[in-house]
Amino acid sequence: MTLIPTLREVPADADIKSHQLLLRAGFIRQTASGVYTYMPLAKRTLDKIESIIREEMENAGAAELLMPALQPAELWQESGRWFTYGDELMRMHDRHGRDFALGATHEEVITSIVNDDVQSYKRLPLTLYQIQTKFRDEKRPRFGLLRGREFIMKDAYSFHTSAESLDEVYNKMYTAYMNIFTRCGLDFRAVLADSGAIGGKDTQEFMVLSEIGEDTIAYSDTSDYAANIEMAECVVDYKRTTEEENELEKISTPNQKTIAEVSSFFNVNSQKCIKSLVFKVDDEPVMILVRGDHDVNDIKVKNVLNAKSVELCDHEETEEILGCPTGSLGPVGVNGKLKVYADHAVKVMVNAVCGANEDGYHFSNVNPGRDFEVDFYADFRFITEGDPSPDGQGRIRFARGIEVGHIFKLGTRYSEAMDANYLDENGRAQNYIMGCYGIGVSRTLSAIAEQFNDENGLVWPKNIAPYHVHLIPVNMKDDAQVSLAEELYELCKANRYDALLDDRSERPGVKFKDSDLIGLPIRVTIGKRASEGIVEVKVRKTGESFEVDKANLLPLINDLLK
Ligand code: ATP
Ligand code: MG
Repeated sequence: MTLIPTLREVPADADIKSHQLLLRAGFIRQTASGVYTYMPLAKRTLDKIESIIREEMENAGAAELLMPALQPAELWQESGRWFTYGDELMRMHDRHGRDFALGATHEEVITSIVNDDVQSYKRLPLTLYQIQTKFRDEKRPRFGLLRGREFIMKDAYSFHTSAESLDEVYNKMYTAYMNIFTRCGLDFRAVLADSGAIGGKDTQEFMVLSEIGEDTIAYSDTSDYAANIEMAECVVDYKRTTEEENELEKISTPNQKTIAEVSSFFNVNSQKCIKSLVFKVDDEPVMILVRGDHDVNDIKVKNVLNAKSVELCDHEETEEILGCPTGSLGPVGVNGKLKVYADHAVKVMVNAVCGANEDGYHFSNVNPGRDFEVDFYADFRFITEGDPSPDGQGRIRFARGIEVGHIFKLGTRYSEAMDANYLDENGRAQNYIMGCYGIGVSRTLSAIAEQFNDENGLVWPKNIAPYHVHLIPVNMKDDAQVSLAEELYELCKANRYDALLDDRSERPGVKFKDSDLIGLPIRVTIGKRASEGIVEVKVRKTGESFEVDKANLLPLINDLLK
């Protein structure tokens, strides 16, 4: 007995395949925005994903625990994140008015636990993990399980006495993640990611390749280099032309604001224009310059300037700061008022065009160093397709990805803030060196559904399908069919295959449609020839079908699920 409420219609509010199919095939139901019930089929699939994760975590030497979702505010105050995490953290108070948060992640809790119970260097390294529900009040919950407000995560944390020991566990986790996503059947890539201004340098994300992915992956067309576009470094090999510097000119440019408008007005390539943006960097306004055909990467700005927050100023703010709205901004005359930072590509520009900080005016023949000073040059832009790959091999291409996992060297970010220490060989207190390793378990379920489907429904890879075999007696009024179906159900069970028996008195067409929609790897149809002991086997993925005697069914299933 189970509950698989399939739907014929495509739900109106679901706009990606995995969300539509998981709803239609009765895997999930929405309980509130970004909050889902995992129906029996999804629960089975989750269990399978989780058991793969558990095996690989244990292989990597991690021990499972389970921490509370309900966390006292004091822990988050100690780490400082109570004040910086923002609205994503679900906050509440108890009947005594004490503040709590619903765990968005567990660095605080685990650090406090380990700090209480692991005093000696002799007990380190130590890696602990859990599979648990997380809460994040996402601004835009969407795409079903891909971005929920309540979701299942595997989170692991490691504690070390040295950077080398952290490297070792980090590498083990990397291997475990490669194994996990491979065993889930996914087409994915491990990519270099942004570690932010804090924490260690190494961090990698595991991205399932998919057009609907929110992240862009920059990868080399010839090597295995792959990075999140947020952090892909640009190669600095810009060449200065031999063009002579001309005299600076101020030109009236009514209504010419965008780079496209300005470059066509001046009849020059956008590479000849300087794009000038004013950002508030930790509340201080600064001007960032990039070449017209490039875009400012605010994550790089944040990292290069070692800032906590970076926000683009709007019209009103630039008006207030430079007396001019965005659209006519430029670096000439700005030195002394604002710091001016520029991307490396700007350094070699000759006779460029930029805004004059006066509505409706631009300068032409602008030359860095002559007409304005740059406080320093750095890599401030997004890499683009066709750029040389940072590893020196090949050119950059883009792909979209869904982030299903993330491994991260935290260093002493939390142990320092929370004063969490062990005693070293000399009895001196030292901060734990930490790593953390997350997998979006419910997101992985969706990512698999997104990657494995066809026009008729889901097509589960055999390792994580909710059941291996779908048994379909065509006519429930036919005793021979019913008893053979039951016999085969027992046969599967005895041989450790999970079988789903469709014993509804529905028309065969309905049963077959539902079976395609649900997408179990093997369908066994028990029809007219049941009395002779003959059934039809159909492979969901390839559509191949075979008529077999019941005596040969098990070897065939063994073979198909090998
Ligand atoms: P994102 O950039 O997608 O918001 P994140 O950087 O906030 O992810 P982490 O804090 O690293 O994510 O969390 C670890 C993993 O948890 C992620 O790799 C992702 O697979 C999963 N995850 C994060 N947020 C969500 C969410 N809202 N719904 C489902 N899974 C999520
Ligand atoms: Mg997030």
